[in-house]
Amino acid sequence: MTGITPEVRALMRPSAAALEPYDPAFSPVEVILSANENNYGIPPEVAPALAKAVTDAAWNRYPVPLGGELRNQLAAWHGVAPERVVVGNGGDELLFNFFLAFGGAGHALVSCPPTFSVYGLYASMVETPVVEVPREKDFAPNVDALVEAARTATLVVVTSPNNPTGDLFPRDGVRRLCEACPGIVLVDEAYIEFADPGSTVEDMLGEYQSLAVLHTFSKAFALAGARVGYVLASPAVVAALAAVRQPYSVSVLDQAAALAAVTHRDAFQPAVQAIRQDRGRLSSMLGGLVPLGVRVWPSQANFLCVRVPHAHEVWCHLRDEHSILVRDFSSTPGLEDCLRITVGKPEENDLAVAALTSILKGE
Ligand code: PMP
Repeated sequence: MTGITPEVRALMRPSAAALEPYDPAFSPVEVILSANENNYGIPPEVAPALAKAVTDAAWNRYPVPLGGELRNQLAAWHGVAPERVVVGNGGDELLFNFFLAFGGAGHALVSCPPTFSVYGLYASMVETPVVEVPREKDFAPNVDALVEAARTATLVVVTSPNNPTGDLFPRDGVRRLCEACPGIVLVDEAYIEFADPGSTVEDMLGEYQSLAVLHTFSKAFALAGARVGYVLASPAVVAALAAVRQPYSVSVLDQAAALAAVTHRDAFQPAVQAIRQDRGRLSSMLGGLVPLGVRVWPSQANFLCVRVPHAHEVWCHLRDEHSILVRDFSSTPGLEDCLRITVGKPEENDLAVAALTSILKGE
């Protein structure tokens, strides 16, 4: 991609001028385990209904901005009033909207790195100061320090399960944050469907007006290409997010696809269960590579964070010699020599372990 020339950079807003185009580091390969997508895709029994919903959608009409029927069905599913739901063009748009609505100079974000890099990126785009409370040994969040930082924050974001470390944020920690923070506490639950039952903090929404929970259709519901996410929050926070959003950001096609997924949500469970099961198997197989210097952390998401010697070179070998793409985090502070491996289908996971073993043995 052509870079930003100095002349064009000089025209940019100062907070945007420091940025570079987002690079998902994608390469065409045979086995894609890099973006935490659902490699099972849309269940065959749902595909015809989804295709029909998209075909029958009113392509000639603007979408209902807040997603009329989709919003109603999401609300019914989660047992909340529709006023507590806002849909977006992927979780990413909703995250950006949080910063548009609540960020800016003097409106501090508290975050807990290493975590999803987009929070810091969006914060910087709208000149939001970021207070980072780094994770401690084995990526455990420092809840006491987060609670202290939250006392003067406008927005606290915690990720549960966290990307890329895979751990859940303690439920009690969320409570403490809601009690301490005068602003909004956003719990990003993009991967929650892969976690043990009862891990969501959604049940606390009625207790804390400041709590917001983010969900996406990109992971468990295999619709990363459609770009639909949603937030559950108090009606006032939803109204604030609705005020800053692009009115038609979720197309009629995406709304129709997401609605079909909601209506057939039980059909996605077998793949979610298969991923959960194979996460355990992949983790044990990687655990068997400890003598080769591998370390794997427990995960409640559809990916595993692993540390391997010379991770960047290993990543290149996986891609170039084995046609397997994983995500390289080795240059992220706190994640030295770490790779993130999405849990794919069993045969894909087997290929990844075999390739990793052969690379680490120098074969
Ligand atoms: N939150 C987290 C923690 C993520 O990892 C992602 C996607 N990588 C998202 C939110 C946003 O996902 P999407 O925009 O596809 O809904």
